[in-house]
Amino acid sequence: MADVDVAATQLAIADLSGTVIARDTVDMSVDGGPEKLLEAVSERLRSMLDEHDHDPARVRHVVAGLPAPVDFQRGCAVRPPIMPGWDGYPVGDYLRGQFGAAVTVDNDVNLMALGEATQDMADTPLLFIKVASGIGAGIVTADGSVHRGADGAAGDIGHIRAPTRRDVVCRCGKTGCLEAVASHRAVLADLGITPSSYDDRLHASRELARLVADSDTSALHRIRQAASDIGEVVAMLIHTLNPRTLVLGGPLSELQDEILSGVRAAVYEQALPLATRKLIIMPSQLGADAGIFGAIALAGREAFSQAGVGRLLAEA
Ligand SMILES: [Zn+2]
Repeated sequence: MADVDVAATQLAIADLSGTVIARDTVDMSVDGGPEKLLEAVSERLRSMLDEHDHDPARVRHVVAGLPAPVDFQRGCAVRPPIMPGWDGYPVGDYLRGQFGAAVTVDNDVNLMALGEATQDMADTPLLFIKVASGIGAGIVTADGSVHRGADGAAGDIGHIRAPTRRDVVCRCGKTGCLEAVASHRAVLADLGITPSSYDDRLHASRELARLVADSDTSALHRIRQAASDIGEVVAMLIHTLNPRTLVLGGPLSELQDEILSGVRAAVYEQALPLATRKLIIMPSQLGADAGIFGAIALAGREAFSQAGVGRLLAEA
């Protein structure tokens, strides 16, 4: 499994029961392009297999999560806003060539949603909302599979119009998008905290958490506004999807009390009782591990699918 993020990729190897055998991280930015990163990831995965006496030729399934819209059928990112050189690059084909195994490439938020759905108390249907530098949703259906939509664009909620501040220009070129007014980045920018590098971003998150802990009025006001904007869009999704569980994840949701209560208030105010009567709203249980656990769940599911069992029998 490889969960690619902007600055680092988390790796894991699991057996068919879903038990993690080994984990590691490759610290490399996606800015250097797909070849360099995928080569480093493949090399590290092979040495992890080797270190644990597993033959790379016996790998059943490789799952890669990308922080971008993904064409699930072709196994590639589609017009990613933050990943130069990745648009249309055949990530699935590359990894298939490296490991000779079946490969699934998916959006990172879809995998995070799947990971959260493996947790106790997280009944499906489950809606996962990631609030980071962008805002995205992952939808796990009642039978435990990801709802990706016809083009893999399901859950791409960051560019739905937010109810307030329609004048703010988004990186997509439209104005008033949810992620332009309520993402982690938007909140930091409005408070004058402008990180340039990944380390700065971690520092910026801590700075924001400190302001909130100190009850800084403008920080609290700005976060509550963001939570309310997110909550209004989420309320609409609750009506459309009627999930049993709503999970909030990503760095902004680490300010759990403020964000959770704001979203909860907006959802209960906007959505009708039938859709919220049994709804559970909770913070992420897995945090930064959600993507990798979702990848393991997806690989297990694929390995035991009709096609997966067919491949297993053909090789036996
Ligand atoms: Zn936008």
